[in-house]
Parts: sequence; structure tokens; C-alpha cells
Amino acid sequence: MAVTLKTKVALGGIFLFGLLILVGALSFYYFNRITEEAGGIVKDNYETLNYSRDMLKEMDELQGGDSISASKKFKQNLQAQEKNITEPGEKELTDSLRINFEALKQKTSSDSLRSLIRRNISGIMQLNLQAINKKNEAAKASAEKAKTIITIILTLCTLVGLTFLYNFPSLIASPVAKLTQGIKAIANKNYGERIHLNRKDEFGQLADAFNSMAEKLNDYEHSSLSKILFEKKRAETVINSLKDASIGIDNKGDVLFANEQALQLLNLKELEIVGQSQEGVQKKNDLFRFLLKEQNSTPFKIVVDGKENYFIKEIVDINQGNEKAGSVIVLKNITSFKELDVAKTNFIATISHELKTPLASSDFSIKLLEDERTGRLSDAQKELVNNLKQDNHRMLRILSELLNMAQVETGKIQLDIVNADPQVIMDNAINSVINAAREKNITIRKDYRAGDIKVRADTEKTSWVLNNFLSNAIKYAPRDSTINAGIVKKEKEIEFSIIDQGPGIQPEYLLKVFERFFKVPGSKAGGTGLGLSISKEFIESQGGHIWVRSEPGSGSTFGFNLPITDPNLSQD
Ligand code: ADP
Repeated sequence: MAVTLKTKVALGGIFLFGLLILVGALSFYYFNRITEEAGGIVKDNYETLNYSRDMLKEMDELQGGDSISASKKFKQNLQAQEKNITEPGEKELTDSLRINFEALKQKTSSDSLRSLIRRNISGIMQLNLQAINKKNEAAKASAEKAKTIITIILTLCTLVGLTFLYNFPSLIASPVAKLTQGIKAIANKNYGERIHLNRKDEFGQLADAFNSMAEKLNDYEHSSLSKILFEKKRAETVINSLKDASIGIDNKGDVLFANEQALQLLNLKELEIVGQSQEGVQKKNDLFRFLLKEQNSTPFKIVVDGKENYFIKEIVDINQGNEKAGSVIVLKNITSFKELDVAKTNFIATISHELKTPLASSDFSIKLLEDERTGRLSDAQKELVNNLKQDNHRMLRILSELLNMAQVETGKIQLDIVNADPQVIMDNAINSVINAAREKNITIRKDYRAGDIKVRADTEKTSWVLNNFLSNAIKYAPRDSTINAGIVKKEKEIEFSIIDQGPGIQPEYLLKVFERFFKVPGSKAGGTGLGLSISKEFIESQGGHIWVRSEPGSGSTFGFNLPITDPNLSQD
């Protein structure tokens, strides 16, 4: 049966209480006994002594004058003595006293009777004095005994009390200390900790409850740990099976993982990067530093095993709930696409070049046909020749765009920068579109306000860009409208602009028009969507910048700025 702490404390209390009651009872008993011995019984003896003393006094007076009253008092004292017999032998002496006293009454002059009476009285006194002494001794002995017993019991009480006091704190404190130690161990994730109290009280029950809690935590820890380890292994397998090089970085900037492909590219061992801070890694690895700094996702080249490989970088965020917990840098190997792209560009360049020669010669033949020296054409024939000429020009234009694009793509834009007259460049462009403008009755107004200032430009490519702007303006502007061809000096630049009265462009497409193959949805059919992207490359490669301003319904302005010639530099 479990003895609870409460029971233990109660039993201890009851035991102490019992002992104290015992001390009280014993004290009461001995007090009574001593009082009795030293008080009640001794009192009788003292009374006898008083009677005896009075009787002796009466005896003296009996010999003197007042014998009647003395005899009366003697008698009274004798009667009182007869009722107060307490000691053995006292009765006989008292009876003898009575007899002698009665005899003296008859024979008042008898001295022998008087001396007998006196002896009787002193005998009675003797007995009582002895009794008083004896009782005193007995009371003393009882008091001594009581003192000893009470001292023993009180010592026992003190001992029990002290033992209880000494043991009580440890009874509470030692299991509390063990429990505290156990709880600390659990707080430190030491789930193997157990408390052994070997008690059946409340502390024992608490220790049992603690142990079962620790066991459950231990089970949980092991089960979740193995689960986490399994998940980690699984994630590692998935990451390593990725074809793309992947590097995970947490939001504190520590590298979480890098798969084999990434390690190979970075030429690092796992230990040199995983678990390290990105600051530390980027100090010793140029590619890693480049990957962290590079913001835009333009393709870049890495030489792996002596072969050029092309990659683009993607950053994928790792989110935990709504918060960003880190990111993964993914390097997509686009070498095969790049190779296909190069092959495509080469193919386009070759085909365009090959087609350009026969088209140029057919253009020449068309011009000969138009010449009256080769024979007169009927109106219907003239019409056919004209259509043929336009188709031919369109094809030549497309080929020129494809060739330019090939140049741009292969990064082989060949520039011939000179100090050129901006007006000449603009005039060349206008001349090549003048017929097309005339067909739509569009007026091209020249607005040249740069004076004689020269511009640093490749005249041919800049004219090509202006020609592209003008062709688009003519294409999109309504009949009978006006196109403004402007040249103006702006600080250290010359600004070229073509303003049309066409439909304009919605704001969301304004920047996109410079992207390759982009056409504003719903715009006129025809065209490749390449002209403006090539124009951008041509202008930027000359150190200029291209721009567009447009609002739907209010026409468009396409333009670019090129640096003016520094007058301190020698003229070309
Ligand atoms: P495209 O050969 O199709 O004209 P561009 O690169 O020259 O190719 O132009 C891209 C697109 O920009 C065009 O398809 C057209 O939608 C839009 N665009 C260009 N110029 C103008 C303009 N002057 N007015 C309205 N839209 C234009």
C-alpha cells in the first residue's frame, strides 16, 4: 500500500502529539501523587502533632488551677485525635491515652497516670513525626522518579522532533532536487534522463509520471529525427539528381547545399562550401562571387573541361509560410540551345546573303524594264512591273534585316564611326523612303536645328535606323498626314527624331517594341518585328541611346541620341 507523504507527516505529528500527551499525563499523575504524599496525608500527621501539643499543654494546666476547662480542652483534642488515626500503632497508643485520661479523672492526683499520659502523647507524636519523615522521603523519591521519567520522555520527544526536523527537509528537498535535475536534462534535450526515487508517495508518483513523459519525448525525438534524416536524404537525392547546378542559401547567408554539378562548376569540395557563409565562399571563389553579384539573367560562359559552356542563372525563393527562408541559385546549362542558335544564325546569314545577290540582280532587271530604252511597256505591264519592284524591295529589306540580325546575334556588328553630318544621314534615309511616302501622299517635313555640328556615327547604320523609323511611320500613319524628321542639339548630343500622326502605341508596349520579333497586338500585318531591335543594337553599339514616346491616338515619336564630335579632336 502506498504511504503518501501526507500520511507520513500526519503519522509523525500524531506520534509527537502522543508523546506530549504522555508527558502531560505522567506529569499530572506524579504531581497528584507527590501532592497527595506530601500534602493530604502529611496534613493528618501535622494535625495529630497539634492535638498532641495541645494535650500536653492541657496536662500542664490540669496540674495548675483551671482544671475543668483544661480537662474539657484535653477531651476535645483527644476526641479529635481518635478521629485522626493514620499510623500503625497509633490506635493502641490513643486507646491507652483514653484509658489513662479516664483514670486520671477519677484519680486526679496520680502522678504515675500523668506520666503515663505524657508518654502516650509523646509516643503518638513520635509515630507521626516518623511518618512525616517517611512520607517526605517517599515524596522526594516520587519527585525524583517523575523527573527522570519526564526527562526521558522529553529527551525522546526532542530526539523524535529533531529527527523529524532533520529528515523532513530532505524528505521534500532531495526528491525536488532530483526532479529539478531531471527537468533541466529534458530542457537540454537529454531525453534519456530518468528519476529513481524508490518511493511510493506523491514524489514517487511524480517521478513515475516524469519518467513516462521522458520516455515519450525520447520516442518522439527518435521518430522525428529519423523522419528528418530521411527527408534530408531524400532532398539530397533529389538535388543531386537535378541536371542543373543548384546552390541553396538560407536567409542568413549560409550555404545550405550545393549539388554535384554546382561543385564541379565551382571547382569546390562539398566541405568548402556547404555550411559556410556566402561571404567566406565568395572571397575565395570568383564564379561564386559572380553568381551572387550578377542580377540580370543574361547568358554567360564558363569553360568546363576545356569546353565552352553557356549558362543562365535563375533564382528560386524558398518560402516558409509567408516568409522567405532562403533561395536557390539554379544554373541552367543552355550550351546546346546556344549551339542551335548559332547554327540558326549562321544559316540565316548564309541564306540571306545567297538570296541577296539574285534579288539585287532582279531589282536591276526591273529597273531596266522600266527604262524606255529597253522598250515601251503598256500601262498594265507598268503596273505589274511596279508591283514586282515593290515586292522585290520588301524582300531585299527583309534580307537586310535578317543579315543585320545575324550580325547582332553573333556580336559581329562592324562599325565605321566617323564625324558625320547629321543632315546628310537624315537626307539619305528620307530619300530611300520618299517614293513610299508619296504613294500615301505623306509629307516629310525636315526640321533641322543642329547647324553644322557633326555627330560621331556610322553613317550607313544610322541611316538604316532612320530609314526603319521612317518606313514604320509611313506604314502606320494615315494617308495625307505629315511626318516630322527632326535634328536638334541637346547638350553634348545630337537628337534625331521621327514624329508621325499614326495610331500611337499603348504605354505597356512602349519598351517591348525594342524586343526581337515583338509586334504590338493588332498592328498592321507584314513586317518581321526585328527592325526596332536591330535599331537599338546599332545605336547602343555606337554609344547612343534609343527611345520612343507615344500615346494611343496621338502619334508616335521614335528617336535616338548620338554624341556630337568633340571640336578638340581632329576631323575625319
Ligand atoms: P516591324 O517590322 O513589325 O515594323 P519593328 O521592330 O520595326 O517591326 O516594329 C515593331 C512593332 O512596333 C511594330 O510591329 C508595330 O507594332 C510597332 N511600331 C513600330 N513603329 C510604329 C509606329 N510609328 N507607330 C505605331 N506602331 C509602331
